[in-house]
Amino acid sequence: MTTAMIVGPCGGFHELSLSPPLLQALDRAGYREPTPIQAAFIPEALTGRDVIGQAQTGTGKTAAFLLPFLNHWRDENRPGPQAIILAPTRELVVQVAEEAAKLSPHRHCRTVPIYGGQRFGTQLALLKRGCHIVVGTPGRVLDHLSRGTLTLERVRYVVLDEADRMLDIGFRPDIEKILRRCPPQRQTLLLSATLPPPVLRLAQRYMVDPININLSPEKITVENIRQTYFTVDEDRKFELLLKVCAREQPRQCIIFCERKRWVEDVYRMLRKHLPRVAAMHGDLPQSLRNRIMQGFRDGKIVYLVATDVVGRGIDVRNISHVINYDIPLDPENYVHRIGRTGRLGADGIAIAFVTPEQGEQLTEIERFINKMLDEDQIPGFQAYTPRVRTTNGEAPKPVVPIFGRRIKRYSNRL
Ligand code: ADP
Ligand code: MG
Repeated sequence: MTTAMIVGPCGGFHELSLSPPLLQALDRAGYREPTPIQAAFIPEALTGRDVIGQAQTGTGKTAAFLLPFLNHWRDENRPGPQAIILAPTRELVVQVAEEAAKLSPHRHCRTVPIYGGQRFGTQLALLKRGCHIVVGTPGRVLDHLSRGTLTLERVRYVVLDEADRMLDIGFRPDIEKILRRCPPQRQTLLLSATLPPPVLRLAQRYMVDPININLSPEKITVENIRQTYFTVDEDRKFELLLKVCAREQPRQCIIFCERKRWVEDVYRMLRKHLPRVAAMHGDLPQSLRNRIMQGFRDGKIVYLVATDVVGRGIDVRNISHVINYDIPLDPENYVHRIGRTGRLGADGIAIAFVTPEQGEQLTEIERFINKMLDEDQIPGFQAYTPRVRTTNGEAPKPVVPIFGRRIKRYSNRL
């Protein structure tokens, strides 16, 4: 693997030698200048080689992987897409497909989103009409492949967005099956804000001599997100949440819980106290998930209580706050969750609730992001009872954290 030199800031998109129709599309989208990852990633991808791109959340990785394909797009009237983009959640698939449509250089350049929970027939009709780009979740793409309603024979461009998640144990078998159906002489691109070394090593299996562009070697989280934490007893978290919401008055806010059940619990309690609250997790019917996402994008929903189903990739510019009601087990997920705010240079606030037993988990996150979080407090509110030593002088037994063990099939939990 080659590691790239990081280039300095660059001028407008025309310096990247993109086609005139694509430059017009960028202009219509209001994209004036490439972001640093776009400036570094696009020229490499345009050469046709495999590229791995790591850059912080909200820095324009989607356009970085879409533009090289859109630049080479040809209006071929043959069955099957020329590009396939895989993403971990249905909501992200929809969002990426919309970005592809927005940046499309020609009205004949069509993108079809393929994801579970939507009627098969609807997707089939779109595929039959012909499309050039498929954006999909692995499960539903495999369904179409096994039914023979999708062929990847003409694919020459493959993207794994949120690549570390796509290659984790839950998704990897599906990804491997899909990659086997793509021609070997394809171009493969991997992007994420977090690409730990084991994932990079694993990625070599699916790529040919990739170049690695890493724009966040030291600072994994962006500077413009203010990060604090509260020490709080489990049974005082909800009271604290109300106080934090009253103090912060968020424009829009995601409140992350580790489990679907807990999302429901917090949602039911919170809606009694605040207006414009909704819940989001994988057990809700897809039509409702779509409506909730729309309501959140439109700003009608202010507080979204959610699992990690919206932890990655989701881009809603107005999100001012991310509250980790439960801190995540995996430090990577912390980075992605808080990255729902502070998008593209905007300011954001991330607040984590940490129980006295979770100190080690917080330390692990701090080590991962190479940054200490400041302790936060609500004046006059005792969020936790300091632990007293037992009479025989021994420290009290630590309470076993609820997540003593990493859950392997992560996707099952969302
Ligand atoms: P990432 O995938 O790195 O988290 P996204 O691709 O979701 O980031 O982009 C974040 C936001 O920035 C999106 O709203 C996108 O429309 C916008 N954006 C991307 N590139 C540009 C650009 N060059 N100029 C202006 N806005 C951009
Ligand atoms: Mg993204």
